[in-house]
Amino acid sequence: MTWKPDIGCDGLYDPISHQVEIDNELDNDEEIATILHELGHAMDEYRVERLDQPRRMKAYTAWYDGKDTKLQRKLVIEEEIIAWKIGRLIAKQLKIPLGKWYDYNQKAGLAVYRAGNKNENY
Ligand SMILES: [Zn+2]
Repeated sequence: MTWKPDIGCDGLYDPISHQVEIDNELDNDEEIATILHELGHAMDEYRVERLDQPRRMKAYTAWYDGKDTKLQRKLVIEEEIIAWKIGRLIAKQLKIPLGKWYDYNQKAGLAVYRAGNKNENY
């Protein structure tokens, strides 16, 4: 896990390198929510069938390019919801108390994916 400036979003999980990047300018709540969420993506690797992984990666790439189909967006949002849920489980396991701030970050994160990516520099 690395912290970097200007990564264009709060956090990223790269399923190829299995690395997580976190924006180093987040406030504490955003940072913890983002770490839990990105770890949720990493943990979800064990659940997703290998055959399904290329389809998901293609859907994310299409989303980032702003060229996703309805089905691809549905796949991306499903994966995002799962990563937030796994983030909750990780927090519970680590005894990290979650508050409204986690719900807020989840809602904001999902809203970005639901709206679609119109910013080419995202
Ligand atoms: Zn995510």
